[in-house]
Amino acid sequence: MSERRSQVVRHGRVLTAGALSAAPLDFLIEDGRIREIGAPGMPAPADAEHIDAIDRLIIPGLVNSHTHAHGGLGKGAVSDRLPLEVFLTGSGALNGSRTLDDKYLSALLSAVEMVRKGCTAAYDLFVEYPVPSVEGVNAVARAYRDVGMRAVIAPMMADRTLYQAYPGLVDALPEVQRETARRAATAPWAESLKACRTILHNWSFDRDAIRPALGPTIPLHCSDDFLVGCRDLAREFDVGLQTHLAESATQAAVARQRYGTSLTAHLAKLGVLGERFSAAHAIWIDRDDMQRIADAGGAIAHNPLSNLRLGSGLAAVRAMLECGLAVGIGTDATNTSDTQNMFEAARLAAYLSRLRGTDYAQWLSADEAFTLATSGSARVLGFEGRLGTIAPGAFADLVFLDLAHINYVPLRDALLQLVNGESGAAIDAVMVGGRFILRGGRLLKVDEAKLRRDAEAARERLDNANESALRLARALEDWVGAFCFAQARAPGLPRRRVDAD
Ligand SMILES: [Zn+2]
Repeated sequence: MSERRSQVVRHGRVLTAGALSAAPLDFLIEDGRIREIGAPGMPAPADAEHIDAIDRLIIPGLVNSHTHAHGGLGKGAVSDRLPLEVFLTGSGALNGSRTLDDKYLSALLSAVEMVRKGCTAAYDLFVEYPVPSVEGVNAVARAYRDVGMRAVIAPMMADRTLYQAYPGLVDALPEVQRETARRAATAPWAESLKACRTILHNWSFDRDAIRPALGPTIPLHCSDDFLVGCRDLAREFDVGLQTHLAESATQAAVARQRYGTSLTAHLAKLGVLGERFSAAHAIWIDRDDMQRIADAGGAIAHNPLSNLRLGSGLAAVRAMLECGLAVGIGTDATNTSDTQNMFEAARLAAYLSRLRGTDYAQWLSADEAFTLATSGSARVLGFEGRLGTIAPGAFADLVFLDLAHINYVPLRDALLQLVNGESGAAIDAVMVGGRFILRGGRLLKVDEAKLRRDAEAARERLDNANESALRLARALEDWVGAFCFAQARAPGLPRRRVDAD
């Protein structure tokens, strides 16, 4: 049996959601969890390690409710001004030719960026095309473990290509390009489910640290049989299921054509919505859809960065909250939002809510944005009450910010200065489960110089290997874009988004 490990953190100012001021508080950590919070000078066991947090603002580690490990090696690879479907046209080629080492490296890059920007846990849907493999999933899990982060990791899967998902798309392409589109293929759904069963059955990582989940990527790209199979597997192994729901107007429009109903109503009919279900984006949904997800106990991962980058739209977060929905904040992948910065994502969530109407009582407050980026996201990951909060029983996953940094000089309102002004620049230390993984601005578990060398070598090799596939994909992009925008503009489609005002 391992020895009890006690730590006492003294002289810091502690900020948790709902607290309007960062009060001077001490707290006791035992075996990686917060045991007790008290006034400065509170008693602590004589053998407790003393952590001096003088001049430090301590917040719960931010929790990223939606990202993709494969984006780490995709930085700078996605052209400017691409909407979702045009981006998806080239995404297969972008992520092609990757070895297991590349999958590990990409996840490592992504995780390092998150930790450096104050995030200690993430829900990650990573590419495992055409069929998920034990080795691929383990490579991503090892990367998170090696950085020291927590994660829920889900292989991203589909049994339809983009061209099969949108009826009429192939025929809308010039003849010379149709063959390329037709040749694109994914694995049959039964094969993916069989692989997932093996992965879930043999899971060897500590589930409090790295937990498996399922990622049927976009409902339109998955047959009903596949979605139902994922639903059953999630129930059987008690794991999460996350998908990109109604991210674009085109998806919403094509769903109406295909199902005669909204995407969400279709998922409800299939029994996919439930407590294990979370939807990333959910921009093109109405109040009925929101209520369906809320009633089933599902959750939403709001991704303001990529929603803006891809021009997908503004999610109606206030309306979601009014429906009783659990909402977290995510960054989405580095290749579609260019950063894994949860501070920026939280700030944008607050600011974008102001574009939805002039009734400023409806805007998201700094406290609400902070809550969504911490305990809200923890709920999406299935770690409610144990992550995203500084409270007895919660994991000691903490970020220590330097109050001498210019962001906090002078210090007047820590919450406002954090949510509206922090970028991650003031981070001094990050702790997960009572262990520092970053201290004095230095990562303790990763050699960043080696990481850079490995990443540059992989970039060069992969860019060469994927060059011709990318050229083929790029020749299709404008055609796919034209088709998708025509779909989105079809009369009466899609149903109007919810307006908050
Ligand atoms: Zn995504």
